[in-house]
Amino acid sequence: MFPVLTAAQLNRLRTVGRERDVARGDVLVRMGDRIDHLYVVIAGQLDAVSTQVKSERGLATLGPGQFTGEVNMLSGRPGVARIFVTEPGRVVEVDRARLLQLLQTDPDLGEILMRAFVLRHTEIIAQGFGDVVIVGSSHSPDTLRIREFLTRNGHPHSYLDLEREAGVQDLLDHLGVGPGAIPVVICRGKIVLRNPANAVLADCLGFNETMDQARVHDVVIAGAGPAGLAAAVYGASEGLDTLVLEMYAPGGQAGSSSLIENYLGFPTGISGQELAARANTQAQKFGAQVAVARTAAQLQCGDKPYAVALDGGTRVRARAIIIATGAEYRKPALNRLAEFEGGGVYYAATPVEAQLCRGDEVIVIGGGNSAGQAAVFLSKDVKKVHMLVRSGGLAETMSRYLARRIEETSAIALHVNTEVVALEGDGPLQSVRWRDTKTGAEEQHQIGHIFVMAGAVPNTRWLDGCLALDKDGFIKTGPDLSHDDLSAARWPLARAPLLLESSRPGVFAVGDVRAGSIKRVASAVGEGSIAIALVHHVLRE
Ligand SMILES: Cc1cc2nc3c(=O)[nH]c(=O)nc-3n(C[C@H](O)[C@H](O)[C@H](O)COP(=O)(O)OP(=O)(O)OC[C@H]3O[C@@H](n4cnc5c(N)ncnc54)[C@H](O)[C@@H]3O)c2cc1C
Repeated sequence: MFPVLTAAQLNRLRTVGRERDVARGDVLVRMGDRIDHLYVVIAGQLDAVSTQVKSERGLATLGPGQFTGEVNMLSGRPGVARIFVTEPGRVVEVDRARLLQLLQTDPDLGEILMRAFVLRHTEIIAQGFGDVVIVGSSHSPDTLRIREFLTRNGHPHSYLDLEREAGVQDLLDHLGVGPGAIPVVICRGKIVLRNPANAVLADCLGFNETMDQARVHDVVIAGAGPAGLAAAVYGASEGLDTLVLEMYAPGGQAGSSSLIENYLGFPTGISGQELAARANTQAQKFGAQVAVARTAAQLQCGDKPYAVALDGGTRVRARAIIIATGAEYRKPALNRLAEFEGGGVYYAATPVEAQLCRGDEVIVIGGGNSAGQAAVFLSKDVKKVHMLVRSGGLAETMSRYLARRIEETSAIALHVNTEVVALEGDGPLQSVRWRDTKTGAEEQHQIGHIFVMAGAVPNTRWLDGCLALDKDGFIKTGPDLSHDDLSAARWPLARAPLLLESSRPGVFAVGDVRAGSIKRVASAVGEGSIAIALVHHVLRE
């Protein structure tokens, strides 16, 4: 985490930075301010500390040859530490734009700096250092929402549970917050937000840089799942001015997967969250701007250059658009489903949910790959997993290794021809009734956790009739577009649409949102990267 640079490496940093003297007590980075500079110690000493609600904790002491910075520097997000001078001396100050350039052009320094940044960020999260404290309850759906949002965005935070920890009520009294107002978020040590929306929290924590509405980007990518992130990495690394809009957090569906075992190059598997974090860091290293909690609300395809209107009124423009908005889980038609969402009904199986269900029985609805993975993952922590499948068996598309693991795991009970018919409980979910679809017999079980993983619908509602879709709402591209599709869209060019191009020139669709795509991480990544080659083609036209 804290390597010491050689004299030759220091000299290379000197050429891109500015050297200056520092005096004891000088503050170089303020906690909560955007990190715009990297500091390299030539002489003297720097200390990094993080202020929690009640105390200050030391993060690091840096001497000659060592440097400041962590992953948040790449995107200019606020830092979680205050860095100040404890021994007077001299530093090299490198601004963010120069640093990004250096990371791309000096592989030796790039590797040392990037490795330290990633390791430090991981440690900051593991140690719970940070500028956010959530005060909530494990029975509150919004507490779960906020914890998941920060976890999925890789933002360190502390959690205080009203029911489980002493002194929390005192803290709430001190803040003048009644117990009915939880969850409460103490953001950057000062601002108290009561049950904030994700976008409000993202703004408070400075997740996003300001968007320049006058700028015409080379490419705007909607969605930061595997497909969108791959497009961002290739686009930015090939010199395109690339903006990514993500309504939630980088990673998409893959980000909710506990362990992806069939993605090339990871023989022991990789969690979706880790894959997403690495890809996001990689995209930012190459200079892509990734905005989170920003929803593409409308594609304005009549305008040239194309425009995307965001929730909240901002509008961004681009010469090419890549749609990578993927798909989301189909929700079963069950009374009271929404009431229990986050309070016993979940759509992702990550360590956050596993912790909530530890030692209990759980139900997983669905017979496909994602349901199978969730069942296997949860079976390690819970008492029993009941896997409910409406048809007569697991989906034919389920990977063989998963089907075998489900059969071999004694903590998983597979119930075929079975569907949930009722959810019951006062407050959180307490019991579930399911029915054998062959005999009609119903059973009630005292189970308070249900994971819904029953197929997906494409996120294409926001396209507002701009593009030709198939009967299920997926975007048609390339050779799948019929003559009728193209004449309805008034296709203006002499050439046919390119491979991943939609019925509008320069608008591409990749990954799960595309009609006929293979719904896998590797194919989404492949399509995202291919799309960039096609964007170059369109920009040259
Ligand atoms: C639990 C689970 C486990 C899985 N395990 C595996 C596995 O082991 N191996 C495998 O190969 N595949 C697996 N899959 C499938 C794989 O995750 C998907 O095929 C892949 O994520 C598709 O990538 P994508 O980028 O096309 O779409 P998605 O992953 O769906 O990403 C789309 C992104 O777009 C965002 N978005 C949606 N609408 C908007 C909007 N209007 N504005 C801005 N952003 C928007 C979403 O928030 C999301 O982040 C799994 C899926 C799930 C759910």
